[in-house]
Amino acid sequence: MRGIAVVWLAALLSIAWADGLREATLILRGEPLSLSPPPLWDGRELWLPVSHLERLGVPLEVGASSVRIPHIPSDQPAAHVPVEPKRGAPCIPVRDLVRRLGGFTRWDEASSSLSILARLQQAHLEVNTLHLKTSLPVAWRAFALENPSRLVIDLAGCALPDVPLPLPESSGAVKAVRIAQFDPHTVRLVLEMDAPAATPTQGLDSEWQVALTAAPASLPEPPAETPQSPPAEPAPEAPPTPLEIPPLQRDSSGVVRLTLPLPEGARPRVLFLEDPLRIAIDVPGYLPEPVERAIDDPSLFVRTLRAAPLDVGMVRIVLELARSVGAQVLSGKTGVTLNLRAPRNTGGKLRDKIIVIDPGHGGAQAGARWREGKTVIEEKTIALAIALHVAELLSREGAKVILTRAEDKTLGLYERTALANSANAHFFLSIHCDSNPRPNSASGTTIYYHKDDADSRALGQALLNEIVKVSGLPSRGVRSDSVLYQTGLAVLRTSQMPAVLIEVGYLNHSFDRAKLVNPDFQKRIAEAIVRGLKAHVEGR
Ligand SMILES: [Zn+2]
Repeated sequence: MRGIAVVWLAALLSIAWADGLREATLILRGEPLSLSPPPLWDGRELWLPVSHLERLGVPLEVGASSVRIPHIPSDQPAAHVPVEPKRGAPCIPVRDLVRRLGGFTRWDEASSSLSILARLQQAHLEVNTLHLKTSLPVAWRAFALENPSRLVIDLAGCALPDVPLPLPESSGAVKAVRIAQFDPHTVRLVLEMDAPAATPTQGLDSEWQVALTAAPASLPEPPAETPQSPPAEPAPEAPPTPLEIPPLQRDSSGVVRLTLPLPEGARPRVLFLEDPLRIAIDVPGYLPEPVERAIDDPSLFVRTLRAAPLDVGMVRIVLELARSVGAQVLSGKTGVTLNLRAPRNTGGKLRDKIIVIDPGHGGAQAGARWREGKTVIEEKTIALAIALHVAELLSREGAKVILTRAEDKTLGLYERTALANSANAHFFLSIHCDSNPRPNSASGTTIYYHKDDADSRALGQALLNEIVKVSGLPSRGVRSDSVLYQTGLAVLRTSQMPAVLIEVGYLNHSFDRAKLVNPDFQKRIAEAIVRGLKAHVEGR
């Protein structure tokens, strides 16, 4: 009997191993992912269950038999990666996929792990900005060091290209740039600076900019209007023409315009800031004296216009807003025009609006999770708690509220927006908590809008403006969802009304988490959301 049993067991084992697959670890942006079911290694290729594809953070369209890469034209074979069943689950070949996306992978036999790495494709320097581009999203972090002043930027999940990258030339406050592979997963850029530099910052992107603005005390002086001493030779250049800031103009359709006379091709940097609501525009130019204009007419949307030299050859114009506005920047032959208008579905009273509140995830989809001993904290629960408060407060205001879910249930992304679209809702607010690959590395509130939709951005700005006043968390700004995925976020893309997704805070940051789980904090955030929405609709 025993002999038979051993043979039988051996036969079973040989069946179990006959597929030649073994469990392996996937390392993304330097961090091993814990995935269930785990990826499987066949000796040459890593098979990742399709259910984990979202973790890669790249835009992909998942079909029944293949996964499509949206940025490759669909008539090209490279656009379609075939899906194959492995141990019962549809899986995708990771090495093949990553290669097609422009990244590469490295297998480590000793730890049975495969690392996904992006290539650094571009690093180029303009006066006050470093532009970086990688083939896949990387987790980046910038921090300053002193003696000598340096700005260090680490790109986790990145490797240097095979062909050396042309190094950015020194420019503005940057004296020299060095790039090196800091460790197997990290590329490090070191910028030697004239002066202490840059607000330390971080993100998860494949294309982004790092502002290199020096600390105010060490800002270089603006160019002198007249030479210090009579020139021995004829002056080599005429003194710069001061930038003229014309008054705001309002046309018959209610659009407010500010046109700045800039050389053709000049592209201003536009920043949307909160508390108070502001739009800042950085343009090339020279300003002999700061400008400050109080504006009394509420139909111009702007309370105060200020302008001041920012750095050599740069001017910052700040519009302090009287209310949230839809803003658009147009570059033309004669200059750059900023158009401001009342955002869509605003005006009237909050009580006359239909608002869809969408608590993220639910049911089988927990969203971000954090485990501490035996306690598991799930994004879906926190999102629901905040959403229920928002719904209740809005109902008290007399608004018509539709909750996509009022309980812990599974709901598709498209079901959520279908509900909002068929109800002809005026606004769609999706509530979430953030998470990133490195615990305790990122903190704060981010609000996303779709692509370049100015109405949704205005809505996001109005909400964030109130949230930052009560949250005690840093503002990470109102950002386009195209920084996450080329196609944006599904719930924002498919909403027909102004829509935003609020990432209240980071569930994997201890500071944020302590707040997120606190019922008082949840209530305070809900109140701020309602105040922001009311200000957005009714104006100030
Ligand atoms: Zn979420």
